[in-house]
Amino acid sequence: MSRIRIKEILKTTPTEQTITVKGWVRTFRNNSFIALNDGSTNNNLQVVVDFTTTAEEILKRITTGAAVSATGILIASQGKGQTVELKATSVEIIGDSDAEKYPLQPKKHSLEFLREIAHLRFRTNTFGAVFRVRNSLAFAVHKFFNEKGFLYIHTPIITSSDAEGAGEMFHVTNFDIANPPKDENGAIDYKQDFFGKSVNLTVSGQLEGELAAMAFSDIYTFGPTFRAENSNTARHLAEFWMIEPEMAFYELKDNMDLAEEMLQYVIKYALDNNLEDITFLSQRLEEEEKQKPQNERAELSLLDKLNFCLENKFERVTYTQAIEILRESNHNKKKKFQYLVDKWGVDLQSEHERYLVEKHFKKPVILTDYPKEIKSFYMRQNDDGKTVAAMDILFPGIGEIIGGSQREERLEKLETRMNEIGIPLDELSWYLDTRRFGSCPHAGFGLGFERLVLFVTGMTNIRDVIPFPRTPKNCEF
Ligand code: ATP
Ligand code: MN
Repeated sequence: MSRIRIKEILKTTPTEQTITVKGWVRTFRNNSFIALNDGSTNNNLQVVVDFTTTAEEILKRITTGAAVSATGILIASQGKGQTVELKATSVEIIGDSDAEKYPLQPKKHSLEFLREIAHLRFRTNTFGAVFRVRNSLAFAVHKFFNEKGFLYIHTPIITSSDAEGAGEMFHVTNFDIANPPKDENGAIDYKQDFFGKSVNLTVSGQLEGELAAMAFSDIYTFGPTFRAENSNTARHLAEFWMIEPEMAFYELKDNMDLAEEMLQYVIKYALDNNLEDITFLSQRLEEEEKQKPQNERAELSLLDKLNFCLENKFERVTYTQAIEILRESNHNKKKKFQYLVDKWGVDLQSEHERYLVEKHFKKPVILTDYPKEIKSFYMRQNDDGKTVAAMDILFPGIGEIIGGSQREERLEKLETRMNEIGIPLDELSWYLDTRRFGSCPHAGFGLGFERLVLFVTGMTNIRDVIPFPRTPKNCEF
């Protein structure tokens, strides 16, 4: 007999048909009522066991965490909170669970504790909801780009290009690190390494993505990226997933329009398909907020915040305007920023980004045209000679969620900039070739997938929206 998922069962009405369900026991009450969960929804199926006809041996083994199979008929439920329940004719124990030793007790555990048992936290309501929403968002990303005719391209994970993230890359080698081969000058001889050169894990698929866009017009990547940045924050992971579209014949405004449309599309998709889970997370967050002093509580609930994002256009502001706003703000005058904003050209800290989004505009903000000194070499130089056609999208509670730009398509300008900041042209000659052979205006951006999941689930620590977080000094499982 085939197994039916609990989510489907809970949508149906009582039938006289016999069905089978399989899942894990959340609780077992009065020797009669199993709350059974199979991960398809946070709602449990109530399985009613007749203890007068069920063997004592079986009843004893229906413990929290155990995997069981139950067969019976679906009847209208007497209890509140569910319309149907399963009247079991037989219960089979598939996998025992020692209730005394089972780390998850039917009570509230801290997120920190659950991170230590990431192999079991999937079985909690909070993480059940988070990872179902994560799944929907990933699917929605592919659906969005597919509907727009974008080509999904797989950029490499091991790369020899290190122009972008110097110092933040994880080195990949086959050498015995205690004893690597040396050349005649005593330096490590990477010619003898696996790839015959020094290579790293990718920090971004952009440069390779640009090559594909110069042939397929509209492409995107969606894959893992790695950064050895030692920033132990609630927004940084050492291994995270990034969505990077790259479009030929796009200018900065087209890029912003696409990013905004994509974010609204995937948020709407999650609301349409995961309302139950998002409502659960919204209520969870409201409970959390009650612990905080009144003036620190969020003004909007998670659901309201997501709907707000769908209904309002993002605010578009230049870096120069943003600096003016920050410099003139009471926050700055009263020295409430850790880093005071005094002159044009400074990089914005996350406290500044959050001030703009949460206090000043009170909605998502797209910041454009940053000083070229604080942005990457490949961004298109504006006519003012000072700024580049960059755009960052800032979200409430998160700060930067997207970083992107129009790319410098003019070979001479690009080479001049690379020389200015000391990037060897020969190492990136493959990249420069796109500017030699049929160059054209193009643009793209990178969306940190976990930051998006943070926003949509209302979780506050990025470690809680990826199944197995990798952060400094932490790589379990
Ligand atoms: P930040 O200033 O927050 O470190 P960044 O400027 O380094 O971000 P980009 O290099 O532009 O970010 O990367 C594009 C996107 O990838 C960012 O907008 C963000 O959403 C995400 N991102 C960057 N670094 C991380 C990280 N360590 N963990 C998770 N997501 C990240
Ligand atoms: Mn960074």
